[in-house]
Amino acid sequence: MKRITGTNIYSMFKCPRMVALDLHADRSLRREVRAEEEFLLQRGRDHEARIVAELGWPEPEYPTAQFEQGAELSLQMMQSGMEGISQAVLIDADYLGIPDLLRRQEGSSVFGDYQYEVGDIKSSSRPRSDQVLQVAFYSRLLGKLQAKVPEYGYLVLKDGSEERFALGELDPVLDELIEDLCALRENPDEVEPFFSRACDSCLWSDLCLQEMRAAGDLSFVHGVTRGIRRSLRVAGIDSVTNLSRAKVEPAARASGLEATLLRRLKKAAQARMSGEPVLEKRGKGESLGSAAVLHFLTDPYAERVLFMGLLRPRENEAEFLAHCPQSVEEELPAFEDLLAQLPSRLRILHYGSGIPRWHENRAHGSVASVGFERRLIDMARQLRGAAVFPAPIFGLDEHVSAGLSRDPHRKGRASAAAYAVTDAQDGDWLMSKGRSDLEDLLALKERYLGDEED
Ligand code: SF4
Repeated sequence: MKRITGTNIYSMFKCPRMVALDLHADRSLRREVRAEEEFLLQRGRDHEARIVAELGWPEPEYPTAQFEQGAELSLQMMQSGMEGISQAVLIDADYLGIPDLLRRQEGSSVFGDYQYEVGDIKSSSRPRSDQVLQVAFYSRLLGKLQAKVPEYGYLVLKDGSEERFALGELDPVLDELIEDLCALRENPDEVEPFFSRACDSCLWSDLCLQEMRAAGDLSFVHGVTRGIRRSLRVAGIDSVTNLSRAKVEPAARASGLEATLLRRLKKAAQARMSGEPVLEKRGKGESLGSAAVLHFLTDPYAERVLFMGLLRPRENEAEFLAHCPQSVEEELPAFEDLLAQLPSRLRILHYGSGIPRWHENRAHGSVASVGFERRLIDMARQLRGAAVFPAPIFGLDEHVSAGLSRDPHRKGRASAAAYAVTDAQDGDWLMSKGRSDLEDLLALKERYLGDEED
């Protein structure tokens, strides 16, 4: 029987199928880790190594994967009363946890007049539920070993700050999570893949996508959730083809879904079958013909903008303006320079919440802040009502692939920007990727947000 680990807790929040595959499938079926993913993992490991080095706490040394030996050594280290232990191995029956940190606290336990509490080192700026529950899981294993359940756990975040939290109130959630994980371990075949945002970064994606494509899985239809897929199956609709041909009223009665919702899903299934978006009738709004598009490429870990660029429609060829700020301090002057080259009232289209959030944090009170937000139009919102797309939309990449039949990654992935600048491709890569994203945004604007004919 495979042991349930802290990693399974983390994966469960992304996709139950991921846990089932992690526990049972042949790991050689996983896709290769992309260079930029490895770069991010290494950044996380470096951050962890820095914190551990500052603390100077020892870790148990044991042969690779010999976790029982590791657990025995960790227990001896706890019994000897060390101030802290890094990477201790905690085993309880078929559960295994390796928390980054165990910290000695005042109190009492089976070891004497002290006890330990669990900490984990994370690269995020704020604590997330999956991270908190991982610590709760480790704390439960530790509680068994020291015969004293710790009252608190903590996370060390990207900036080195500590977030401490009470564990007691997490018990019901953790109980449910462990129950679900055990059920998954017993019956892995009962968990089906579901196409979601998590698939792009999942190492099992080749396997799952092949399976879902072969089945014409309903999760490929824009608007279908796991619950809707279940309801559709009750009505005998188990593939995109079936949904595209469904008779709406009888299917609504049999599935319990609203007829209006079914009509929309049927339209989305038809779009999926044809591979073509279905344009929606839009109200006559403001003309966006001359509006420019604005786009950033960022390094979320370093909280930096690496590229900021504009593409402005002109008579013959669109005008491309861009900067690659070399530091946080250079961001605002670069942004002001871009804006200075546009007419002061020209509308600016952008995608999603990233640019307004950056503007609020970095440009507040500056020259560039005056009237800027009033000129912004979020294309993500506008596109939502402009067409029924032939695939689920999770962000700009899907709008480009489903809306323009273009590969959004033809010049690289936006998530690779931080990796690219450390790999000596720097400015060239950023300019090329930034420009191709801007061209996609402009093409989306022209195809879906253009002026409607009377
Ligand atoms: S590829 Fe998607 S469905 Fe498959 S395990 Fe990963 S996240 Fe889940």
